[in-house]
Amino acid sequence: MVYNRTMSEPADCIFCKIAKGEIPSSLIFEDDVCMAFMDIFPVKAGHCLLIPKKHYTNMFDVDPEVVAHLGRRLAELTRKVNAAFKPDGVLNIVANGVGAGQEVPHLHIHVIPRNEGDEFRFQFPKNYRDEMAPREDLDRLARLIGES
Ligand SMILES: [Zn+2]
Repeated sequence: MVYNRTMSEPADCIFCKIAKGEIPSSLIFEDDVCMAFMDIFPVKAGHCLLIPKKHYTNMFDVDPEVVAHLGRRLAELTRKVNAAFKPDGVLNIVANGVGAGQEVPHLHIHVIPRNEGDEFRFQFPKNYRDEMAPREDLDRLARLIGES
């Protein structure tokens, strides 16, 4: 099975099919609202996903109450991955939209155990801390976001 890199309609949504049991998954846990299962294309062993069972594209359209529930279960899943693998750290990633790297158009949170020297890297640019942003810029952007 190959993930389509373009956004598909909910009728074709692979995560909806997993949520309905139409496509098998290696389930970690589930409840009425969400489920956690292993990513079939893990960037490393232990890479898993948390999804809402109901279709939401991403953070732009999801019900905030569902996000609250996902947040509680995400903490639990992250701690379980940490306990199971005892990695150097655990990464949580949500991509919202194709431009952010979202490949499956059904909200999902990646949970990835990380170790020093992993092939998989999630890194800010090397020199990003060389120059602190001017406070006036930060204040302006904070207002822009806050008022949007
Ligand atoms: Zn879906």
